[in-house]
Amino acid sequence: MPDIMPFHGIGWLATGEVEVVSQQTPDGKLVDGTGWISEESDFYGSSRVKAKLEARVKTGKKRGLEDAFAAENAKRVKTGFRKTQRAYGNKQIPVYSSTLDSGPKLEPAANVLDFLKSRPQVAAMQKSHVNATQISGLEIPRTTAEDSDATELVKRAIGRDRLDTRQVHESVLDFLRRAPIADMSTADLGPWLWIHSPTIPKKHLEFRKNQDVDTLKERGWQLLEAFSAKKAEIESDNPDRAQATITKKMSPYREQLEDQILSLAVKTGTTSGKWMLFPGQDDLPRFWRVVAEAVSEGKLGPTAKVATPDAFSGRKETLICIYTYDFSDEADVRRVLDEILDLELCRRDGKPIWYKCDAYTHLGIESANTYKIRASLYGSTELLNGKAKSKSEGPVERLKKRKIVNQAMPPRPFVTGTGTPHEINGSSTPTQMASKITVLASSRAVIDNKISPATIAISTVTGRITSISPSVLPPSSFPPGTPYTDHTPHIILPGLVDAHVHLNEPGRTEWEGFWHGTRAAAFGGVTTVVDMPLNAIPPTTTVANFHEKIAAARGQCWVDVGFYGGIIPGNTQHLKGLIREGVRGFKGFLIDSGVEEFPAVSSVDIRQVFEELAEEATTVMFHAEMIPPISASVGDDVQWSLPPLEPTGPLDRYQTFLDSRPVSFETYAILEILGLAHLAPHLPLHIVHLSAVEAIPMLRAARAQGVNVTAETCFHYLSLAAEKVQDGDTRYKCCPPVRNQANQDGLWGEMLSADQESVIKTVVSDHSPCTPNLKMLPSHVPGAEGGEKAGCGADVGKGDFFNAWGGISSVGLGLSILWTEAMRRQLPVEETLSNIAMWCCQNTAKQVGLEHRKGELKVGMDGDVAIFDDVMEFEVQRDSMLFRNKCSPYQGKTLRGVVKETWLRGRKVHTRGSHGGFAVRAGPVGELLLEPRTSRA
Ligand SMILES: [Zn+2]
Repeated sequence: MPDIMPFHGIGWLATGEVEVVSQQTPDGKLVDGTGWISEESDFYGSSRVKAKLEARVKTGKKRGLEDAFAAENAKRVKTGFRKTQRAYGNKQIPVYSSTLDSGPKLEPAANVLDFLKSRPQVAAMQKSHVNATQISGLEIPRTTAEDSDATELVKRAIGRDRLDTRQVHESVLDFLRRAPIADMSTADLGPWLWIHSPTIPKKHLEFRKNQDVDTLKERGWQLLEAFSAKKAEIESDNPDRAQATITKKMSPYREQLEDQILSLAVKTGTTSGKWMLFPGQDDLPRFWRVVAEAVSEGKLGPTAKVATPDAFSGRKETLICIYTYDFSDEADVRRVLDEILDLELCRRDGKPIWYKCDAYTHLGIESANTYKIRASLYGSTELLNGKAKSKSEGPVERLKKRKIVNQAMPPRPFVTGTGTPHEINGSSTPTQMASKITVLASSRAVIDNKISPATIAISTVTGRITSISPSVLPPSSFPPGTPYTDHTPHIILPGLVDAHVHLNEPGRTEWEGFWHGTRAAAFGGVTTVVDMPLNAIPPTTTVANFHEKIAAARGQCWVDVGFYGGIIPGNTQHLKGLIREGVRGFKGFLIDSGVEEFPAVSSVDIRQVFEELAEEATTVMFHAEMIPPISASVGDDVQWSLPPLEPTGPLDRYQTFLDSRPVSFETYAILEILGLAHLAPHLPLHIVHLSAVEAIPMLRAARAQGVNVTAETCFHYLSLAAEKVQDGDTRYKCCPPVRNQANQDGLWGEMLSADQESVIKTVVSDHSPCTPNLKMLPSHVPGAEGGEKAGCGADVGKGDFFNAWGGISSVGLGLSILWTEAMRRQLPVEETLSNIAMWCCQNTAKQVGLEHRKGELKVGMDGDVAIFDDVMEFEVQRDSMLFRNKCSPYQGKTLRGVVKETWLRGRKVHTRGSHGGFAVRAGPVGELLLEPRTSRA
């Protein structure tokens, strides 16, 4: 068995399952969080706390795991779909009662403790904690021999509402049945299935709170970079020496590198690691069942995961990872190995298995890495046979001996370039660059709003553009070994910034989540998405809720992700806090949002918000539809209204739906907003997803009078038309609705207006998916629940535009949609490319206060790039809809323009094509963009 790690593995904390429990605020209130059910002492021991919790259950204000499963009301979607099922596809999630009196009780931790005490390994486990303390020499809370809590175990909040994880009330068997590992459709749940032990040593819980993967990655890459620079130096000093000689000369530096990375791992709390099993396909279900049962019984480590079948790469390898808390805790690593042997998942005389630390995984250190570091820290054979020599010389032993962990962090490496954006610098000399770069060139790049040849160097250390030359330079202009690609005739575009995406995690992850949504984005050249504050549970309306969102996103994003906050009645006091936490703007509704946890605001609320945020660096955005006081319709409410508000025709006819949301909804709402704008004259206002052309004149007039208001429109309003929507095809339902062809032409006319004063500054996806059942699609429409084979009898009530969830899925298809439509309209190629970069990159970045690093190809900006083939065509099918639920009105349409590659901060994250795919080894390297904004749009 080779020492390989074929997939990216994220640490066992990546599922965010560990919550600190039973925290109390100074005034004695329970901190609002999901972890409370884990704290045995409070849960069973304190009648005061129990009474509080029961009160919360009664008032329906409790949140967390049990709500996620139980409180159907909290999830009810106000589309009139009254029989909401907790279902993903045809997989039913069990629904449990939320009352404290009924439902399964948690097992007391003592049982597990007793069990562990009966095991011979427990002494080794205790001893190993002492080792860890000695190594670290830091103020990291570790268990010591004197500590009476040495083996104290506390319960964990496991599973939450993640579909890829065994839930706390779910039996292992039920979990295995719900997510069968041999079933291809299980891949839809995510890249991994997870199982957690029911308890965790208390000390590790504390320790994990301080985990800082971002710092590990940042500093770790600096160390790797410094090592590569040293190697280049030795190579140039020894031009005629064989590679083996160079490798030998590098040996002390390599040891130092290993030591530094591992000590960094200890410092940043990233000490978890895993034994890796690669069973054959046939053995996989059995292996996974054995591992799942053992972990849930507390026999192995804190967590295990198994790679789900991957529909995209078609790979054949399997992988199960069994985690331990601490790679430096050799006794515990050995204890888990012994368990693995006991469970007959590995044989003493069979193939060895290998143990790898998560720190290496985070830094992309695989087998056969360029640094020639041994990627695994332990092998089963050497541990079992006591091959002391190799072990005693290994990095873990050195870490213990040298006590190097307190040395200062390495300085930031020198980076060529000014660090501040400036115009194309034709005089820069790339050969002088000291730092590692990657180079992209083409005869066609969008630079400074024009199409021109360019050679772009991006630092692989900082991820920023270090130079742009206004010509295609040859590879010889760069140091030998510099990665270089001339993409001519394809176009180098800035990565797209999609400033309007609904990712719905946590809470409605079965609709869309960070993993799938950001992969779909990367597939289409989108390198930044900004997540809307509603449709996840909880919505992003308080700082605490925002923290839940952030925890859910970490480690899952393939592109960079920013967040909006939400404005709802009564949350004004949270808005400044959300700004400090890094939200990029706010959104509120003037009409029913479709989900009841995100109610619409009134003019009284807007007044308060404008006064609160008048001088802040942010943007306030509105879903501008509002029911005018006298109207022939009340939108979706039409279905349970009495005449004269009843529908004007059959519910499955698109025109009936269109008539229910007339243009006046939009114009009335915009007038309402403009009428209050004087309260905050400096505050940028923004109308999301403008649909009706009739609203344009009033927005133009307001801007002419100095009101700081802009609008966005969406790919669908620029490419779809009401006339072409078939009866019952609810894939086209969104709000405000797709209007007629003349309206679409009018939107294009505004955006291309000769006076360059368009009020529509940006084009976004408003990607807002749901599960197929909520779309109520008739069985003949692609994407319908149960597929196209469903019988006719299944169609009762299907195709009802009023009951169906409103939202169109298109993240990652936008560039091709826009390009296809522009070419159909025979718009000039170069001008259109430049316009698209303005609408979808530059202006969207500015709208969310990221214009200093996103949206343009400039020195000092992030190296976010889309390589675009403007000629190639493709038909939208399941393999080009990478969002979670393959349901989109674009399915079956042929689009022109293909994103060949997507680069995120100097790293290629996706390549389209038969041999392409996602940079699985690099993993989801997207960052959460949480720097508080400093600019106004
Ligand atoms: Zn939206």
